[in-house]
Amino acid sequence: MLNDDDLNRYARQVIIPNFDEEGQEKLLFSKCLIIGAGGLGCPVALYASAAGFGHIEICDDDTIDLTNLNRQIAHKNNRIGFNKAENLVQECLKINPNITIKPNKKKFDKSSDISGFDLIFDCSDNQETKYTINLLSHLSKKTLISGSAVQMEGQLAIWKSGLNKDYPCYECVFPKTKELAPITNCRQAGIIGPITGLIGSMQVNEGIKEIALKNCNSRAGYLFLYDGLAQSLDKIKLTKNKKCPVCSIL
Ligand SMILES: [Zn+2]
Repeated sequence: MLNDDDLNRYARQVIIPNFDEEGQEKLLFSKCLIIGAGGLGCPVALYASAAGFGHIEICDDDTIDLTNLNRQIAHKNNRIGFNKAENLVQECLKINPNITIKPNKKKFDKSSDISGFDLIFDCSDNQETKYTINLLSHLSKKTLISGSAVQMEGQLAIWKSGLNKDYPCYECVFPKTKELAPITNCRQAGIIGPITGLIGSMQVNEGIKEIALKNCNSRAGYLFLYDGLAQSLDKIKLTKNKKCPVCSIL
């Protein structure tokens, strides 16, 4: 049962058809992990907190740098040098002090435990971490909502390979290769802040749908490509790679 404060705080979303109080209760009970507290992690954590995701952990070992501030909107000038996960938690609590949210200052790697979460948000900015998040999400049978952004383009996908063997995983679609990968990190290629803002917002939108909305078809199995120059969004149906080393485990 939602209390009076919850009914007021979430009033504008519980009136949405297929959401209602039952959806809000599901959100408040859910446990989500946000990996990365940067350009994507900031909007994901801020909107997830505001929407009432009840239990959130934010994982990032990095500290705030001046070059982050064009896009990592939760981090302010006077917090340069502070840990990103800790600072983002503090900013989220300013919006919604009624949720449980905590930082994890360790680097995300294969030893990370994701078993206690319902939903994983991949807001990381490098390929190696994305492969690790994909592997652990697959093995732990978690729904993974993955975002990435570079220059004026962004990508969004929902992965459920561990829950349903018909769905592809991240590595099915982006196989590891020995060839030199194109530059896809924002340190070298650049990034416009609104692109990370858009993709992060879309990640939370999908998270709300996955957890709270009734009669809502999951968008798992598709890759969404946003082009900020053309102002276009393409949807690509993904296929499973029968030789994928991750999917062949389960
Ligand atoms: Zn796979």
